[in-house]
Order: sequence, then C-alpha cells, then structure tokens
Amino acid sequence: MIDLHTHTTKSDGKDSPTELVANAKEHGVSVLAITDHDTTAGWDEAIQAAKSQGIGLVPGIEVSTRQLIGDGRRISVHMLAYLPDPNNQQLFAELEKTRTSRIARARKMVELLSEDYPITWDLVQAELEPGATIGRPAIADALVSAGIVPTRSDAFTSILHRRSKYYVSDHSLDTLEAIRLIRQAGGVSVIAHPLLDFPAGASIQDLPTEYFEELIAAGLNGIEVYHRSVPALAKQWLKDLALKHNLIVTGSSDYHGLTGKDNRLGENQTEPEMLQRILDQASGFEALL
Ligand code: AMP
Ligand code: ZN
Ligand code: FE
Ligand code: FE
Repeated sequence: MIDLHTHTTKSDGKDSPTELVANAKEHGVSVLAITDHDTTAGWDEAIQAAKSQGIGLVPGIEVSTRQLIGDGRRISVHMLAYLPDPNNQQLFAELEKTRTSRIARARKMVELLSEDYPITWDLVQAELEPGATIGRPAIADALVSAGIVPTRSDAFTSILHRRSKYYVSDHSLDTLEAIRLIRQAGGVSVIAHPLLDFPAGASIQDLPTEYFEELIAAGLNGIEVYHRSVPALAKQWLKDLALKHNLIVTGSSDYHGLTGKDNRLGENQTEPEMLQRILDQASGFEALL
C-alpha cells in the first residue's frame, strides 16, 4: 500500500514524524511520503523512523503556490514536490520566504480574531512545535483549546473559511515558478488535490483545460487524481488528461493525524508503477526503499 501525501507536527499534522511512520506501518502502508507544508524539517526524523520500522519512505514537500488565472484571480494551488535536493538554494530560499510570510499572515488573522474571541498570538504559538510551518490549523487548534469550537474542522467551517471576515490571504510562490524550481532541484512535481474550488453545480464542460495545459507546459510531472477532495466528476477527466500528456497519476490520503482531519492513512493509494515513475524522474534525493 503506497500513500504519498501526509503531514506531521513539522507543519499542521498531529503526529510527529516518528509517530506518523509507526502509524503508517500499523495501517499496512509499505511506502509512505512525508509532505509537510513548505518545509523539509521532518525528513531526517522520518528517515530514521522508516529505517527502524522497515518501511519505505519518499521525502517530499507540499509547496504553497498561487496561480494567476484568466479572470485575474490568483488561486491557491498546492504542489507536491517529491525527492527534491533539500539543499538547493533557490528552492530553500523560496520556502523560507513562504514560511515567514505565513507568520505575518497568521498574526494578522489572530489580531482580527482577538477583537471577537479570547485568542492571542501566544495561545496560537502554544499549539505549535517551534519552527513548524504555521497555518490556519494552529489557529483552529487554539480556538478548540479555548472551548470556542469542538474540533479543528468546525473552526474551519464556522470561523476560518476563505470568505470569513477574519481571513487574510498569504503570499506564496507563483505556481509555474514552483514547477520550474522543483525540477531544477531534481524533484518531481505533482499537483495536489486539483480542482478544490471547482463549483459544486458545474459540469464537465466547465473543467479548465487551459489551466492544466499551462502547468504541463511549465513541466508538471503528475496529478494527484485519487484524493477525497477531488470532485468525482473530474476524476476520469483528469486521468484522461494525464494519459494524453504522459503524466504520473497518484492517490493519497493527505493524513494530518487522527484529530487533525478526517483523512485516514491509506484511504487512497498510488500504483507501484506510478511510484516507479516518480523514482525514475527524480534526481535530487534518494528515496528509502
Ligand atoms: P492554510 O495553509 O493556512 O491556508 O490552511 C490550509 C490547511 O488547513 C490545509 O493544509 C488543510 O489541510 C487544513 N484544512 C483545511 N480545511 C480543513 C478542515 N475543514 N478541517 C481540518 N483542516 C483543514
Ligand atoms: Zn495541511
Ligand atoms: Fe493541500
Ligand atoms: Fe496536504
């Protein structure tokens, strides 16, 4: 069982890298990718744990990006980067910029929230391991700890969603630039949970072919087709698109720990042949298999 998208306490997951690897093994995962948001901080610990547990590990990153689309909006796109060189200066510098801007953005959100809720920056910090990539989940956890909402997900649906008055958008790397940087660092780029914002009532004819063609022209290597957030009507369309452009197709859980999100380890999986293609196309770092 191959699961190529998971998070730890180095970003917004609830398991440490060691706990993640142990839980993955217990769930029958044979090859796991650790893909924390905008950081490689969990790699070393995960590699050590995978060695001692005897499971395969593919170190990766989920890179936050923004893509300019036809109507002038810059939409949020998450780009998985498998096996990039963690010492590549350009990629490293961009990730650092993103992590820093995430702090300023979270501070602004906390400032807005503190007008209506008993939430402070210190309370949010207390939810996070030092150095971890901060995002709305840490703010959600502080709201849970303060007894304002029962779970992280409730915080998202009621208070922290994109249209909320407390929402502040973040700076991040341009999507096409991210694809090029990942490639330059020897990594393999796979677009995470595509079409997250695709309107519920829309039909197949509304699927944005040009948007994907732009990513493919920039060097996109693969599409995460099997993920619980990909709209059902888009799955076959995405598979056909991948086939047409000879792209890798993956499936993964996007596990964030038992209380982080409902996603469970191994709930979606990647075919061994597709993992092999990732390994063949990567040159920045060695997978542990
Ligand atoms: P941010 O990076 O600050 O924009 O926050 C996005 C992160 O929050 C994503 O990585 C998601 O995994 C997480 N997230 C989004 N919606 C929910 C939800 N309903 N419940 C729990 N976590 C969520
Ligand atoms: Zn996350
Ligand atoms: Fe994501
Ligand atoms: Fe994720």
